[in-house]
Amino acid sequence: MSATIIDGAHVADTILADAREQAAEFERKAGRRACLATVLVGDDPASHTYVRMKTNRCRTTGLDSRSHHVAATATTTDVTTLVDELSGDDSVDGILVQHPMPAQIDEREVFEAITPTKDVDGVTMASFAAMALGGRGFQACTPAGIIHLLDAYGVDPTGLHSVVVGRSPILGKPVGMLLLARNATVTYCHARTSDLPGIIAAADIVVAAVGRPELIKGAWIKPGAVVIDAGYNPGNIGDVEYAPAAERASLITPVPGGVGPTTIAVLLHQTVTAAVQSAGVPTTGV
Ligand code: NAP
Repeated sequence: MSATIIDGAHVADTILADAREQAAEFERKAGRRACLATVLVGDDPASHTYVRMKTNRCRTTGLDSRSHHVAATATTTDVTTLVDELSGDDSVDGILVQHPMPAQIDEREVFEAITPTKDVDGVTMASFAAMALGGRGFQACTPAGIIHLLDAYGVDPTGLHSVVVGRSPILGKPVGMLLLARNATVTYCHARTSDLPGIIAAADIVVAAVGRPELIKGAWIKPGAVVIDAGYNPGNIGDVEYAPAAERASLITPVPGGVGPTTIAVLLHQTVTAAVQSAGVPTTGV
């Protein structure tokens, strides 16, 4: 078997096309553009790149963005004070705090300073609870993007054994919850899981969310399984050993060009939704 390659950029384009349409309608009715504020702490080059990609994409989608760069030596209070200000600023619709942050910062405290109505990256406990319980709220962007990919390629997780490798609060845990909500049978694996190969060999859907290059070997993949590789490691290498996995899978995401593009698209779409909801401006379809 040779897998169909999931085109994440194409799926992202469909999400962005909808965001662009909604953003234009919001601008017409509200007299201003929807606005995403980004907060970047420190000098991590990869984080700078990610924030730049997000703000560039805002521009091409018809959203404003406002970038805040905080020194690497900042305290938790410095960052929460800024996030508090943005939470109370009526001209800001969505807040993205880029992570990881420097070690001295309490990330959870910073995330909790984001008011849930502007938590377009889905990082607060309120957003997680809403997602887990099926309530109203913004979803973590990468997990939501993964569900878009499955939908776009006609994968119904109902009854499928879905193995999520990784349990971080922004990726592994929420993607498992979203798959559960789609009636998958979900197994989580993590650093202390024994027999990772054996568990993956029984998976109909594998979601790799670890950050270890080619940890998941192609030979472990069940023939016909769907492989979603969210891992992104230096040298454009995913968490899955791509070529041999693609020989066995039915569908597989490449790295790059798989999961990554949908993450940004969901972020922008949720920012437009936040703008529409906060301004009470009726638009079609959001
Ligand atoms: P993270 O917070 O470091 O979490 C990594 C997870 O992997 C942890 O739950 C850890 O288990 C688990 N793990 C580590 N070694 C393992 C092993 N040998 N076997 C099984 N599980 C193992 O990372 P993250 O933020 O979730 O990111 C994961 C990857 O996704 C990274 O490559 C990141 O760059 C990528 N990512 C991509 C996007 C995108 O838009 N494409 C967005 C976010 C993240 P323990 O909990 O037991 O330590």
